[in-house]
Amino acid sequence: MSSFTNAGGPIARRGLMLVLSSPSGAGKTTISRLLLESEPNLSMSISVTTRPPRPAEIDGKDYFFVSEAHYHAMVADRALLEHARVFDNYYGTPKSHVENELGRGRDVLFDIDWQGTQQLAANARQDLVSIFVLPPSLTELARRLRERAQDSEDVVKKRMGRAADEMSHWPEYDYAIINHDVQESLARVKAILTAERLRRHRQTGLVEFVNGMRGEQ
Ligand code: 5GP
Repeated sequence: MSSFTNAGGPIARRGLMLVLSSPSGAGKTTISRLLLESEPNLSMSISVTTRPPRPAEIDGKDYFFVSEAHYHAMVADRALLEHARVFDNYYGTPKSHVENELGRGRDVLFDIDWQGTQQLAANARQDLVSIFVLPPSLTELARRLRERAQDSEDVVKKRMGRAADEMSHWPEYDYAIINHDVQESLARVKAILTAERLRRHRQTGLVEFVNGMRGEQ
């Protein structure tokens, strides 16, 4: 009689941290939204920020909007997995959600910049999968930023100025995608996710699975 219990069931695995970075306007927010809709095992890491909310943004959904004092208290309490100043505001990733999800074998999606990605790489390289999303051209990037029109023209100009800087960090990422078409980019991110979930070191239940097969003989 076999003591093998894994037949047909999923192999236990550790969750991964999927980071999508890009200059503002390259399309990563749309890719993230579509990815979350189609991947039940993936949840968004909601960052804290000291930036004021844009008109359509909801506290607790897009960000946790906090005061500078609250942010600095979180940094001091080591409640953030990574944190950085981006443009003129502070951003950071609350630790608790991410740690709970990874331990339960669920994956977490991050929309963070290159500074945060470097910190995750330094502290949790094994759990990290990073993708840089590039716009098809700078002209297209400017068009998308204006079309979004949630920011003032001043902010748009400032962000365009920083886009080249941000883009210079693409070689630090595991993968790079040029976002010509959202559906095509989505398919590519899903392919990466599928392959990365199968990495041997993430499939913590494999030992039990293989030992179970040995027990069957
Ligand atoms: P926005 O203000 O347009 O929402 O975001 C500006 C930049 O901050 C984006 O590049 C975004 O990826 C980055 N960002 C958002 N949340 C975090 C975070 O928690 N940590 C870091 N390092 N960057 C973040």
